[in-house]
Amino acid sequence: MRPEILFPLFAPVTTLKGVASRTAPLLERVVGGALVRDVLFTAPANLVRRRQTTVADAQDGETQILLLVVNDHQRPGRANLPWKIRCRDDTGFINLVWFKGHGPHLEQRYPSGTALAVSGKVERTDFGLQIVHPDYMLPAARAGDIPQSEAVYPATQGLPSRSIRRFALEALERAPAMPEWQDPAWLERQRWPAWRAALETLHNPVGQQDLLPEAPARRRLAFDELLAHQLALAQRKRERRIQPAAAIEPSALADRVEGALPFRLTGAQVRALSEIRGDLKAGQRMTRLIQGDVGSGKTVVAMLAMADAAAAGLQSALMAPTEILARQHFETLQAPLAAEGVRAVLLTGRDKGAARAEKLGLLADGSAAVAVGTHALFQDDVVFSALALTVIDEQHRFGVGERSRLQAKGESTHLLAMSATPIPRTLELTVFGDLDVSRLDEKPPGRKPVATRASPMSRLPEIVRRLSQAVSGGAQAFWICPLVSESETVDLAAAEARAAALAKVFGTRVGLIHGKLTGPQKDAVMADFAENRLSVLVATTVVEVGVNVPNASIMIIEQAERFGLAQLHQLRGRVGRGAAESSCVLLYDPPLSEIATRRLDILRRTDDGFEIAEKDLELRGGGDPLGLKQSGFPAYRLADAAAHRDLIAVAADDARLILARDPGLTSPRGQAVRVLQELFDWRPAGLSEAG
Ligand code: ADP
Ligand code: MG
Repeated sequence: MRPEILFPLFAPVTTLKGVASRTAPLLERVVGGALVRDVLFTAPANLVRRRQTTVADAQDGETQILLLVVNDHQRPGRANLPWKIRCRDDTGFINLVWFKGHGPHLEQRYPSGTALAVSGKVERTDFGLQIVHPDYMLPAARAGDIPQSEAVYPATQGLPSRSIRRFALEALERAPAMPEWQDPAWLERQRWPAWRAALETLHNPVGQQDLLPEAPARRRLAFDELLAHQLALAQRKRERRIQPAAAIEPSALADRVEGALPFRLTGAQVRALSEIRGDLKAGQRMTRLIQGDVGSGKTVVAMLAMADAAAAGLQSALMAPTEILARQHFETLQAPLAAEGVRAVLLTGRDKGAARAEKLGLLADGSAAVAVGTHALFQDDVVFSALALTVIDEQHRFGVGERSRLQAKGESTHLLAMSATPIPRTLELTVFGDLDVSRLDEKPPGRKPVATRASPMSRLPEIVRRLSQAVSGGAQAFWICPLVSESETVDLAAAEARAAALAKVFGTRVGLIHGKLTGPQKDAVMADFAENRLSVLVATTVVEVGVNVPNASIMIIEQAERFGLAQLHQLRGRVGRGAAESSCVLLYDPPLSEIATRRLDILRRTDDGFEIAEKDLELRGGGDPLGLKQSGFPAYRLADAAAHRDLIAVAADDARLILARDPGLTSPRGQAVRVLQELFDWRPAGLSEAG
């Protein structure tokens, strides 16, 4: 039940004066919601200051206030010319200018001799001074009504900043004083205002400093939002912890699988596995994320957890976003598990008829303990006899619904998600606050850094020449063509043209792979590349995730400036997995923007996905760093994930403390905290929904 104190803020925007059926949709778009609260939480982006002046002293380009008398109206000679009112003060003349047929109405309303207080941006032109579409025109006696400084709101066609400001100030009037949900000692130490006072300052900034993210009022409001979010995440985590699930013990079988591997686990893998085992044997549902760079060895860890499940007579399912990946996972798992008598099946959209029926039979009667596959795994007729563990690779690539449908196939299945999207450490709590996270922050030994350089497109001939030398020495290369246009057909044509051009040099040792190929076609091309029948694989970003071809040592990325840093990092991670020295060439179309230059530079300097993500965040600031929305990254209204990131961990600690002391939120502060939660109405997206 929503507390009564919030009712005025949860009224629809149409209850604000002047918001009619025409304006409502525009306003809702600008403020990102349909409630008075959403208007209240829309912060001004800027501030205009108005100085009163005279015509003689008016500054070109500044918004100023002038006390004027209407001299005469200058009708346009032709229909599409503007209407002008010539005005004067004691020091000179200035024109007020209107486009689009306001004329006759203006003439009636402001006859010659009318004394006016006018404000707007003054411009000096060849025809003298002018103000186009003044923002205030009042009787001279009301000059004092023109605000000296005024907040500028994000606006849209048909809904100017001024209207939004009026709605925001009305929303502010409706905002009640709230019971304090923050710890008073903490507020005092930060010197932050109370909630309502902070909103007053938000909407009535007096100087530029009030608009900065570090302004006390803005930090207070940001912290409220972060706390509301962290509370929601912490509550989810607590709830999930108390759901029972099969207790799975570490097994000798998994140890034997591990012992038979041609390598030893890294320290990070050992840690992740023991964290997973700790969860699995507790008898409560696991929700754990393994975060690790490409090539950090996530699959092996998942396989050993699946072996534990199999040893307990239970089934697991590993879901991958593409067929190529599903196949690769299957190839990784199948032999080591089979050696211990654990049967795995691969199920993709390609399995049809009798072959598919046979696989479904093996899963339904439990003779296959492990299923690896794509979306095909959660179709209705796929039935497990005892599904206890769901593993999801590249979790952000799946929708919430898809994940939960797979999980629903088991009674209460443990969830292990894997992600190679490096989330900056400082944001981990924001994105994954409701999950347990294991980090694979150590690469398997022997991986050499990939020598990376940026090169303008004009150097293409030289690059091809060097590639050709490397290829004659046995090297293999990926050549990535980005998806840049809206049309896949156009992009595909670009990739085809590149493949054709390279074929002139490399003949039949060039392959092409892209999203429009059928599954078997893709597999055939991948197999040719993996088995070194192809030297150069031209690809659109289908190779983005997971694909493992250890002999490939060269990565060439065209129009690298179009990719996000995280994506470039992942692409580069496709090479440098084998014994050979590897290299990555980032081709770009000059001129590079300053940001693009710095991003490519970061990539050249470091190889650590977490560090790259952190730097990228610094460069890009707030908004949607790294395209994280799809990974469950929340869209904050008042907090800025970059500018306020120092507050995230504090909010997380605070949330934990509040819940530990008062799990039912019944104390006075608990009650206030409930109001806060309702106010922000958090429904975090992401993995959590699967639970
Ligand atoms: P990720 O999924 O994290 O990108 P993978 O699990 O696909 O990484 O592992 C990449 C490659 O590294 C695979 O060929 C795998 O067999 C190998 N590998 C995994 N762990 C180790 C290790 N500890 N030592 C050496 N090689 C490893
Ligand atoms: Mg992988």
